[in-house]
Amino acid sequence: VERTLSMIKPDATNRNLTGKINAKFEEAGLRIVAQKRIHLSPAQAGAFYAEHKERPFYGELCEFMSSAPIVVQVLEGEGAILKNREVMGATNPANAADGTIRKDFALSVGENSVHGSDSPEAAAREISFYFSGLELV
Ligand code: ATP
Ligand code: MG
Repeated sequence: VERTLSMIKPDATNRNLTGKINAKFEEAGLRIVAQKRIHLSPAQAGAFYAEHKERPFYGELCEFMSSAPIVVQVLEGEGAILKNREVMGATNPANAADGTIRKDFALSVGENSVHGSDSPEAAAREISFYFSGLELV
């Protein structure tokens, strides 16, 4: 079975939406196999999003992601990477399909409630960014 890295972002943790978002993952057949609440420093957010360093929103993104605690989690299931991105919906909530997390909860293209790995390579890198082998069963 496949695993993917998910983050519940500050806009969602601030509004106490972790349980509602987790319910959507579970209803879609994704299992939460690891989870913790952390508060990134701006430098740690910058390291996680290094691939976006040249994009115009990079500074804003790192500031936002370090503005409050986030919940990082590993989701497991058949085709978990793609399935999670379907449950999340489009990056911009204005374009997100009905019933998706971003349609129901996101505030804007930046404050869009969740992150999900976009490839097997990204999932492996992002899971090991946050979790040690001991934390993964
Ligand atoms: P994520 O990587 O968080 O799952 P994504 O793959 O849908 O989202 P990316 O293009 O990888 O989107 O952008 C990463 C994150 O950067 C977005 O989720 C969003 O929070 C932020 N972002 C993307 N585009 C913009 C923008 N135009 N303005 C502000 N923030 C943006
Ligand atoms: Mg992305």
